[in-house]
Amino acid sequence: MSQLNVEPLIFDEPDSMLRMTVFGGQVRVMMCRTTRMAQKAADIHQASDVATAAMGRVLPGTSMLSVMLKEEKSSITLTMAGDGPGGRVICVGHGNNLKITCDNPQVELPTIDGVRQDVAGFIGKNGRLSVVKDYGKGEPYTGSVQLVSGEVAEDLARYYKVSEQTPTILALGCLNQNGVVLSSGGILVQTLPGCSDEVIIQLDNMLPFFAGISREIYDRSLKTLVTAWFRNMDLEILEETPLFLHCDCSRDKMAAALIATGKNELQKMIKDDKDMELVCWFCRVKCNFTPEDLTELLEKAVKA
Ligand SMILES: [Zn+2]
Repeated sequence: MSQLNVEPLIFDEPDSMLRMTVFGGQVRVMMCRTTRMAQKAADIHQASDVATAAMGRVLPGTSMLSVMLKEEKSSITLTMAGDGPGGRVICVGHGNNLKITCDNPQVELPTIDGVRQDVAGFIGKNGRLSVVKDYGKGEPYTGSVQLVSGEVAEDLARYYKVSEQTPTILALGCLNQNGVVLSSGGILVQTLPGCSDEVIIQLDNMLPFFAGISREIYDRSLKTLVTAWFRNMDLEILEETPLFLHCDCSRDKMAAALIATGKNELQKMIKDDKDMELVCWFCRVKCNFTPEDLTELLEKAVKA
């Protein structure tokens, strides 16, 4: 067999989150690459280019929120619910494992100026971004803001400002075309209380680098970039965590969902005498339940 000598499309660095501080801890920085995750999501949902671009921004945005949650059983759900043709984009994070879905992933829109994916058109400018933090015990925390533009980064920056009272510079980007994700990722910069004006001015000067985040990370490692960007700024890298697209669904969980519909619903399904097929929203895995399976579930529902 002949070896094809082609450049790999994806930069040879796994998806990860880099957490660091600059200016002696006055500023918190998170930067991530989610290229492989965005590609996997695009493949799972057979997504259009614009849907892929939307998911390629929501994934890094949710990853940042997810890795910030300390409790082991905690999870985060970010929902972009705008009035665009794409419908909702929903991303769930559990530590460094993320899963994502979209109501209408096959909707395609023309690019802007022939290059940029129209993510704002896909999601819509009117609607809400909501974040649910479930700590695994007690009441979940819910925060919600009106969308600013549907471009994702601006909307999420508003969430940080309004719901968490944290001024945040946030850039999220996805570079993709014809079903291929070249890069996806983001950077978040948060000034902590007491941060000096001088530091804020220096950070503002760096905005042009951040704005092109998907191009910046396309062929360079996160560490190479931050070392260059934050030189002479007392950069301290705290940790680098791998990130994965992973769905935690199972046949047992789907069976539990069927049981939860109640006795009457199950009896109706059994009467129909047809197989019941459930599809996971996040990984599109199908699970089939025969009338015999449903009868077993009904017995469990009766006992419960
Ligand atoms: Zn699943």
